[in-house]
Amino acid sequence: TQDLHIIGGGMAGSEAAWQAANMGVSVVIHEMRPKVETFAHRTGDLAEMVCSNSFRSDDHEQNAVGLLHWEMRQANGIIMATADKHRLPAGGALAVDRDPFAQSVTAALMDHPNIRVEYGEISELPTEGHWIIATGPLTSAGLGAAIQNETGADALAFFDAIAPIVYADSIDMDVAWMQSRYDKGDTEAEQKAYLNCPMTKDQYEAFIDALLAADKTEFHEGETAGYFDGCLPIEVMADRGRETLRFGPMKPVGLTNSHKPEDKPYAVVQLRKDNALGTLLNIVGFQTKMKYGAQTDVLRMIPGLENASFARLGGIHRNTFINSPTLLDEQMRLKSRPNIRFAGQITGVEGYVESAAMGLLAGRLAAAEILGRTLNTAPLNTAMGALVHHITGGADAKTFQPMNVNFGLFQPVDGLKGGRRGRKDRYKAYSDRAKIDWQHWLDAQSEE
Ligand code: FAD
Repeated sequence: TQDLHIIGGGMAGSEAAWQAANMGVSVVIHEMRPKVETFAHRTGDLAEMVCSNSFRSDDHEQNAVGLLHWEMRQANGIIMATADKHRLPAGGALAVDRDPFAQSVTAALMDHPNIRVEYGEISELPTEGHWIIATGPLTSAGLGAAIQNETGADALAFFDAIAPIVYADSIDMDVAWMQSRYDKGDTEAEQKAYLNCPMTKDQYEAFIDALLAADKTEFHEGETAGYFDGCLPIEVMADRGRETLRFGPMKPVGLTNSHKPEDKPYAVVQLRKDNALGTLLNIVGFQTKMKYGAQTDVLRMIPGLENASFARLGGIHRNTFINSPTLLDEQMRLKSRPNIRFAGQITGVEGYVESAAMGLLAGRLAAAEILGRTLNTAPLNTAMGALVHHITGGADAKTFQPMNVNFGLFQPVDGLKGGRRGRKDRYKAYSDRAKIDWQHWLDAQSEE
């Protein structure tokens, strides 16, 4: 059989290699470190954690990332097994001792009879053979250019400017209303595509004060660049003038508050659907570098969002990622060159766990293809499936930004109460359903 080549031995590449090798496929990992460095990695180890040492919540009943842990453990994932071995006490979170963690993953991969590691940068798109590109948020410039050449400039981003994403069911609809500016659109759905939160003058002024005073994250070295066009952080806009936001993303024009038609709002914050299910909404134009604690405090000053829960907070980071909804098929293959798969953060997922998860899936799919087996992608109702379906189809391609796994990506379970009160039962039902479907998917493969 043919070899599987994986570019990048990070979270995704390491997991992909492990999965494919355990299915009996010979794997070559091409890793540029330590020869070529990135601004964030410090070592030459595979699966190095570049920042925090946490894989986040390990709760597999009430938290989607914990459910993803569970699914990866059931699939004999190397990242989870090694994390469990080097676990540090951290309450409900899975935190690890980072250096021994990365060293153990490296050793396990090096010792595997089906895996070889070649050190060196790859800067061209391969034309032959089976490949997975898992070069992460800090993909080298040469390879980035080659990908851009293949996909077109608009389909590869070098930064993400993420506006906060809110769970729709945590918004107070006695305050907010649905309406597009000037009721634009041919269908009722288009005319009501936005959710609006009104502000009085006093509320606006207090909001600007809080924004200016909030703690912000500084840029990393090598992170700033000419990316500011069209995605200025809201605090930078506020800093340019107290009225800037009222003439920008918070314009009150063309909108009538359906709860109080006589009251003209002084400013309006707009939210828009972030997924096809409509369970997630992004705050339009609200990319920000506010620190997470400060950010939730400031955003909950917006009328209607007092009790908002956030699926993702806003941020601006160096992050290379492709427009997966347009470029990848269900099997995570590049449509224009199906011998190449993508995995990890470069597919537009966000986080160590999500990146490793996409590696696990891509590794299995690629190995199955090499072995001449049919393997469907992960079932829709699993955490793995919800995430891969989001990036390869469910997300809006035009506004595509990296995504964490979260229960907003899951298909609703019939017959359960909506709203905040029913949430605990709902999450448990999502988890129960996911575990059954995931186990089926795995069992079907081990019977082969
Ligand atoms: P990586 O783990 O980065 O692996 C990619 C690998 O590819 C690297 O080893 C790199 O050296 C190699 N490579 C790149 N280009 C080439 C090439 N051309 N040829 C050969 N090899 C190449 N996520 C969290 O969950 N928590 C955090 O705290 C966190 N902090 C982050 C901080 C920073 C500064 C950045 C940039 C990202 C952070 N992330 C964090 C996001 C992300 O989850 C991690 O970056 C994660 O490691 C992504 O996994 P990956 O496998 O896709 O990429």
